[in-house]
Amino acid sequence: MERRDDSAPPTTCKRPVEKSKSTDDDESDEIWSQRWKKQLTLKIELDNNSIVIVLFAQRIPAITEELAQEVFIEYASRKCCYSVKPAKEMVFTDLQSLKTYRYCLETFTESRSTEWATEPYNGQVVNAYNGVAPGKWDLVVPVPALFQDCKAEVRIPHTSSVKGCHSCLRLGRSVCGECMASGRRQCGLCSGSGWYFNNQCLACGGTGIAVCISCGGMGSTVCSTCYGKGKLLWFLKLKIKWKNNIHKTVLYKHSELPIDQLEKVTGENLFTEMNQLVYPVVSFPDNAVNAASREAVRAHQAQFSTTCRILQQRQTIELIPVTRVHYSWKEKTHIYFVYGAEHKVYTKDYPVKCCCCSIL
Ligand SMILES: [Zn+2]
Ligand SMILES: [Zn+2]
Ligand SMILES: [Zn+2]
Repeated sequence: MERRDDSAPPTTCKRPVEKSKSTDDDESDEIWSQRWKKQLTLKIELDNNSIVIVLFAQRIPAITEELAQEVFIEYASRKCCYSVKPAKEMVFTDLQSLKTYRYCLETFTESRSTEWATEPYNGQVVNAYNGVAPGKWDLVVPVPALFQDCKAEVRIPHTSSVKGCHSCLRLGRSVCGECMASGRRQCGLCSGSGWYFNNQCLACGGTGIAVCISCGGMGSTVCSTCYGKGKLLWFLKLKIKWKNNIHKTVLYKHSELPIDQLEKVTGENLFTEMNQLVYPVVSFPDNAVNAASREAVRAHQAQFSTTCRILQQRQTIELIPVTRVHYSWKEKTHIYFVYGAEHKVYTKDYPVKCCCCSIL
């Protein structure tokens, strides 16, 4: 039998399954969980500002054979060209639970920029000359919600002043673009001929010229910039953008199951930490998780600390349940995977399927 390195002994299987060899740090699940728990307790004591929520699996449960078969039959029946026969008749040879972790770092940032804006002047308060305008980071703007993308625009105090409208040169009206200020246009009914089906055109009285509908014959329209006021209020606008930047890594050593399958399924939360700035995880039993955390924290620091403000960070470690199922059907052995809390199924070599499925 092939040697399987990262499997934990199935705990809830109906019949005893051969205990697979574990070379994964040579740790039993018990020692693993105790060690990790100790590290986390220490962290809570040392770091009063951080909120640490700890939930962890004492053991990684393998799914039962009943459930493994049930989801496999369902999987086969959903595929139009798969026969459910193999799923119904198969014989289990081994169920292995594989340690698969998903590390996620979220960095919630705020960025600010300013730009000049105008609005028609209707007698609003003008305050550019009665105080000093605050810098863009001096204004206190409440954060709508943590870890959610959002935008806001705020008027900066002591920046508003009144100026004449540049579009209409303070006149409040602009030249009508339809009639080029003449107030008259070619008659639409007779196309300017003055005749309509051998009769004099009634719309223009035979002149071929009609009053411009856009401006009502005035040759000008109300200025769309100042709405006819002739004056504009200029002010500095603060634009704020809150963004949740997510860095996700799935740590998985078994190449038979494509990694993209594991990115969206639901996992079990093992660890959550939230703080203005989190430190990389250093004591997780699987070193790959520590390395992923170190890299994510470094990357987000480099990316965001100079361009915007980091308001909050949250890092989570999830355990994604993955079971590798070995079975035999008609004297041939096959493998499929059941993964995620949703019990999704993945297999490359389903025994009976018609040719069109291999193209799909
Ligand atoms: Zn006109
Ligand atoms: Zn006409
Ligand atoms: Zn104007």
